[in-house]
Amino acid sequence: MSNRQDKARPSEQAVEQELYAKHQKIYPREVHGIFATLRIIGVLVLLGLYYLLPWFSWDGHQAVLFDLPARKFYIFDLTFWPQDFFYLAALLIIAGLSLFFFTALAGRLWCGYACPQTVWTELFLWIERKIEGDRPKQMKLAKSPWNTNKLVRRGSKQIVWILLSLWTGFTFVGYFTPITELWQSMLQFDLGPWETFWVFFYGFATYGNAGFMREQVCIYMCPYARFQSAMFDKNTLVISYDPNRGEPRGARKRGTDKEAKGLGDCIDCTLCVQACPTGIDIRDGLQYQCIGCAACIDACNEVMDKMNYPRGLIRYTTENALEGKPSRVLRPRIFVYGLLLLLITAAVFYSIATRVPLELNVMRDRNTLYRETNQGLVENIYTLKILNMDDTAHTYRLTIDGPPQMELQMARDVLRVERGGVMEFPVQLRIDPVHLEKTGYDIQFHLEAVDEPELTVTQTGRFIGPAMR
Ligand code: SF4
Ligand code: SF4
Repeated sequence: MSNRQDKARPSEQAVEQELYAKHQKIYPREVHGIFATLRIIGVLVLLGLYYLLPWFSWDGHQAVLFDLPARKFYIFDLTFWPQDFFYLAALLIIAGLSLFFFTALAGRLWCGYACPQTVWTELFLWIERKIEGDRPKQMKLAKSPWNTNKLVRRGSKQIVWILLSLWTGFTFVGYFTPITELWQSMLQFDLGPWETFWVFFYGFATYGNAGFMREQVCIYMCPYARFQSAMFDKNTLVISYDPNRGEPRGARKRGTDKEAKGLGDCIDCTLCVQACPTGIDIRDGLQYQCIGCAACIDACNEVMDKMNYPRGLIRYTTENALEGKPSRVLRPRIFVYGLLLLLITAAVFYSIATRVPLELNVMRDRNTLYRETNQGLVENIYTLKILNMDDTAHTYRLTIDGPPQMELQMARDVLRVERGGVMEFPVQLRIDPVHLEKTGYDIQFHLEAVDEPELTVTQTGRFIGPAMR
């Protein structure tokens, strides 16, 4: 080996570096304050609804049940059918518009308070703190060698997490299979293969996302973080550190004359960083890893209180406000999003409230345009299909609206359809050709429930006769 090569080696070794950075576990510090309280309320309400809703009964069925085999979705008093699929599309539009509206107004409100990832992570963190203690104790336990204390604490945490995850999976399946039946089957170790699969699958996803991956889901997997900047502008309320007020940062004792020392309000305690569930330093500016949980605001406000400084060194503010420019939170795009959201939501509610749980389909016989009976009448044949989407059986009356001399002939005398049932039957319309003034007529078929006259539906069918001379 030459001398030149020997000389080059040390510098080559100096630039060698590991490209794979080992994940450092984050131990978020528990904080108290107005935003922590709001988040706890959000968690309690959302998880309470999730775990309890399937156990409620309503009018003889589970209050919320997505009965896929029967293709019926029950939501309290409402039953949705495949024909109501457009409500799902409307729901997605409302969800999309809500995201636009709230993000343009105040950044990642959804991520910070209502996203399932945040909600379940909060619950898992709470369990972890109850078993392992607060942040310093958790870090100490992580560093300590395996002993009985560590084994018991870590083991019990995992057991509680796994049980909670399985219960979450069980509840999830309970939205698709009646949960009381599911419970009975589980007690008898008689769960079906698909139910077992989904309980474990959803349980595993809960454990993996909230117990193991946590902030990595938000940082590396969630697409929302990547396109949120498209919805932000300089007047969006975002959680920011005020560098004009905080810098130059520096440690000091309480009561120190900061002006005399040339310091800003930030005492560089790093509590905001310790409280952050994604492990970032908000003082470095707006970052895509920030999920808008406001834990750093609560942490910093506590510090400001202790130092007798005004609160809000970290706060909800706009980029314009931080730059000392006029800021307008309520701007045209907020009104446009808000108005659209309001109109679409109102239209969906109105449509659901006035929905008639009855459907009638009229299908003409495609084989013949018309035929002549032995009595010389012109006859058209149709197949009618009644779909009773109500929760009770009904008997229906069928009438037509067409030329007065037209007769309606049916093979059935009674049109009774059970709840959720379908009836298909042939119908003939006949008329003496002398009464026909044109070749084709639009005929209105009216269907009305005998016991509930407001339950009515009308469909149009085409009657075709011989060509006019
Ligand atoms: S909590 Fe407040 S005072 Fe402490 S480092 Fe963060 S910004 Fe500075
Ligand atoms: S920077 Fe603040 S608001 Fe953003 S994720 Fe961290 S603690 Fe939450």
